[in-house]
Amino acid sequence: MGKERRVCTRGRIVYGIVTVSEKGQIAIPVDARRDLDIKTGDKLIVLKRKDEAGLTLIKLDKMDELMLLLQEDEEFFKKLKEVGKMGKKYTCKDCKHYRPIDETKGDCFGHEVPADMPAEQCPAKAFEPKEEG
Ligand code: SF4
Repeated sequence: MGKERRVCTRGRIVYGIVTVSEKGQIAIPVDARRDLDIKTGDKLIVLKRKDEAGLTLIKLDKMDELMLLLQEDEEFFKKLKEVGKMGKKYTCKDCKHYRPIDETKGDCFGHEVPADMPAEQCPAKAFEPKEEG
Protein backbone atom coordinates (compact mmCIF):
# COMPACT_ATOMS: atom_id res chain seq x y z
CA MET A 1 0.00 0.00 0.00
CA GLY A 2 1.34 3.43 -1.00
CA LYS A 3 4.39 1.84 -2.59
CA GLU A 4 5.48 3.66 -5.74
CA ARG A 5 6.53 1.33 -8.56
CA ARG A 6 9.38 2.59 -10.68
CA VAL A 7 10.45 1.26 -14.05
CA CYS A 8 13.92 1.75 -15.50
CA THR A 9 13.43 3.79 -18.68
CA ARG A 10 17.07 3.90 -19.80
CA GLY A 11 16.59 1.30 -22.55
CA ARG A 12 13.16 2.53 -23.63
CA ILE A 13 12.91 3.58 -27.27
CA VAL A 14 9.19 3.44 -28.08
CA TYR A 15 6.83 5.88 -26.36
CA GLY A 16 3.66 5.15 -28.27
CA ILE A 17 2.01 6.39 -31.44
CA VAL A 18 1.13 9.97 -32.26
CA THR A 19 -1.18 11.31 -34.95
CA VAL A 20 -0.26 14.25 -37.17
CA SER A 21 -2.95 16.94 -37.00
CA GLU A 22 -4.31 18.90 -39.97
CA LYS A 23 -1.79 21.59 -39.11
CA GLY A 24 1.06 19.05 -39.15
CA GLN A 25 1.39 19.06 -35.36
CA ILE A 26 2.10 16.11 -33.10
CA ALA A 27 2.05 15.82 -29.30
CA ILE A 28 5.17 14.40 -27.66
CA PRO A 29 4.02 11.68 -25.22
CA VAL A 30 4.20 12.75 -21.58
CA ASP A 31 6.52 9.84 -20.63
CA ALA A 32 9.00 10.90 -23.33
CA ARG A 33 8.90 14.51 -22.13
CA ARG A 34 9.43 13.43 -18.54
CA ASP A 35 12.25 10.95 -19.31
CA LEU A 36 14.08 13.38 -21.60
CA ASP A 37 13.29 16.51 -19.56
CA ILE A 38 11.57 18.24 -22.48
CA LYS A 39 9.71 21.28 -21.18
CA THR A 40 7.33 23.83 -22.66
CA GLY A 41 9.30 26.29 -24.78
CA ASP A 42 12.25 23.93 -25.38
CA LYS A 43 13.57 24.00 -28.94
CA LEU A 44 14.00 20.74 -30.86
CA ILE A 45 15.93 20.27 -34.07
CA VAL A 46 13.99 18.24 -36.64
CA LEU A 47 16.17 15.94 -38.74
CA LYS A 48 15.14 13.65 -41.57
CA ARG A 49 16.34 10.09 -41.06
CA LYS A 50 18.84 8.89 -43.65
CA ASP A 51 16.54 6.00 -44.65
CA GLU A 52 13.61 8.46 -45.01
CA ALA A 53 11.57 6.39 -42.55
CA GLY A 54 10.74 9.44 -40.46
CA LEU A 55 12.17 12.16 -38.27
CA THR A 56 14.54 12.46 -35.35
CA LEU A 57 14.08 15.23 -32.76
CA ILE A 58 17.11 16.46 -30.82
CA LYS A 59 17.03 19.01 -27.99
CA LEU A 60 18.83 22.14 -29.10
CA ASP A 61 20.93 22.34 -25.91
CA LYS A 62 22.07 18.72 -26.44
CA MET A 63 22.95 19.54 -30.03
CA ASP A 64 25.23 22.33 -28.79
CA GLU A 65 27.05 19.78 -26.59
CA LEU A 66 27.33 17.35 -29.52
CA MET A 67 28.70 20.05 -31.80
CA LEU A 68 31.26 21.02 -29.15
CA LEU A 69 32.39 17.39 -28.81
CA LEU A 70 32.60 17.08 -32.57
CA GLN A 71 34.66 20.26 -32.76
CA GLU A 72 37.01 19.07 -29.98
CA ASP A 73 37.35 15.67 -31.66
CA GLU A 74 38.28 17.26 -34.96
CA GLU A 75 40.98 19.34 -33.30
CA PHE A 76 42.27 16.27 -31.48
CA PHE A 77 42.52 14.18 -34.64
CA LYS A 78 44.05 17.10 -36.56
CA LYS A 79 46.73 17.34 -33.86
CA LEU A 80 47.34 13.57 -33.99
CA LYS A 81 47.67 13.73 -37.76
CA GLU A 82 50.29 16.46 -37.41
CA VAL A 83 52.39 14.59 -34.84
CA GLY A 84 51.96 11.33 -36.76
CA LYS A 85 53.44 12.69 -39.97
CA MET A 86 56.79 11.07 -39.18
CA GLY A 87 55.06 7.68 -39.41
CA LYS A 88 55.35 6.95 -35.69
CA LYS A 89 52.42 5.29 -33.88
CA TYR A 90 52.04 7.25 -30.65
CA THR A 91 50.96 5.65 -27.37
CA CYS A 92 50.43 6.90 -23.81
CA LYS A 93 54.13 6.52 -23.00
CA ASP A 94 54.85 9.17 -25.66
CA CYS A 95 52.42 11.62 -24.05
CA LYS A 96 53.53 14.49 -21.84
CA HIS A 97 50.78 13.67 -19.33
CA TYR A 98 52.14 10.12 -18.78
CA ARG A 99 54.03 9.37 -15.54
CA PRO A 100 55.47 5.82 -15.60
CA ILE A 101 54.56 3.50 -12.70
CA ASP A 102 56.38 0.51 -14.17
CA GLU A 103 57.22 -0.90 -17.62
CA THR A 104 53.60 -1.55 -18.62
CA LYS A 105 51.53 1.17 -16.99
CA GLY A 106 51.60 4.78 -15.87
CA ASP A 107 49.62 7.53 -14.23
CA CYS A 108 47.66 10.11 -16.17
CA PHE A 109 45.84 12.78 -14.14
CA GLY A 110 45.41 10.29 -11.27
CA HIS A 111 44.22 7.42 -13.49
CA GLU A 112 46.20 4.31 -14.34
CA VAL A 113 46.69 3.89 -18.10
CA PRO A 114 48.49 1.23 -20.15
CA ALA A 115 51.82 2.38 -21.58
CA ASP A 116 51.00 0.97 -25.00
CA MET A 117 47.46 2.39 -25.41
CA PRO A 118 47.27 4.04 -28.85
CA ALA A 119 47.01 7.84 -28.61
CA GLU A 120 43.88 7.87 -30.78
CA GLN A 121 42.11 5.90 -28.03
CA CYS A 122 42.87 8.51 -25.37
CA PRO A 123 39.57 8.79 -23.44
CA ALA A 124 40.17 12.46 -22.64
CA LYS A 125 41.30 13.27 -26.20
CA ALA A 126 44.21 15.01 -24.48
CA PHE A 127 47.27 13.35 -26.05
CA GLU A 128 50.18 15.74 -26.42
CA PRO A 129 53.60 14.51 -27.50
CA LYS A 130 56.45 14.75 -24.98
CA GLU A 131 58.92 17.51 -25.62
CA GLU A 132 62.01 16.03 -27.25
CA GLY A 133 65.30 16.58 -25.52
S1 SF4 B 1 46.31 12.12 -21.84
FE1 SF4 B 1 45.54 10.37 -23.00
S2 SF4 B 1 47.25 9.78 -24.30
FE2 SF4 B 1 48.06 11.05 -22.68
S3 SF4 B 1 48.71 9.60 -21.10
FE3 SF4 B 1 46.66 10.27 -20.62
S4 SF4 B 1 45.33 8.72 -21.51
FE4 SF4 B 1 47.34 8.53 -22.47
